[in-house]
Amino acid sequence: MINSMKSVFKSLFLTELLKGMSVTGRYYFRKKFTLFYPEEKTPQSGRFRGLHAQRRYPNGEERCIACKLCEAVCPALAITIESEQREDGSRRTTRYDIDLFKCIYCGFCEEACPVDAIVETRELEYHFENRGENIMTKEKLLRHGELCENQIAKDRAEDAAYR
Ligand code: SF4
Ligand code: SF4
Repeated sequence: MINSMKSVFKSLFLTELLKGMSVTGRYYFRKKFTLFYPEEKTPQSGRFRGLHAQRRYPNGEERCIACKLCEAVCPALAITIESEQREDGSRRTTRYDIDLFKCIYCGFCEEACPVDAIVETRELEYHFENRGENIMTKEKLLRHGELCENQIAKDRAEDAAYR
């Protein structure tokens, strides 16, 4: 009897609706949690693991020495490397592909690299429109590395004490 009276009272005076509206009203004037992406962006860590890049030394030489540690450690088998020896005796890759459809962005490749050649950058806004664009070739990796080098070097320098 008491329960049914309560229910009638709630229906008559729309108490549930008013409760809900009061919650909406309270949050309406508070600081917003949401962002207007992509115009507004959340802060990013220097350790963010986004699109990969290959780095060069300041003299333009590729850092990668084709040791294949990254290929061996990659749990997703996303990296394919082929290499050859140059006339000066140094070893360099002739093919370095990362299949972004397989990659799980674990960061093991950059952890394993002894010369900081393969890195994951802060870049997260990319897409593919054609078949095959998911393969980051050596050329694409190096070009991306050139574009992001300043940010990569800054992030690595800030993180150096913890590595
Ligand atoms: S981030 Fe992980 S999964 Fe992706 S290529 Fe590197 S090691 Fe492989
Ligand atoms: S990117 Fe680094 S770990 Fe991978 S083959 Fe080159 S030097 Fe070795």
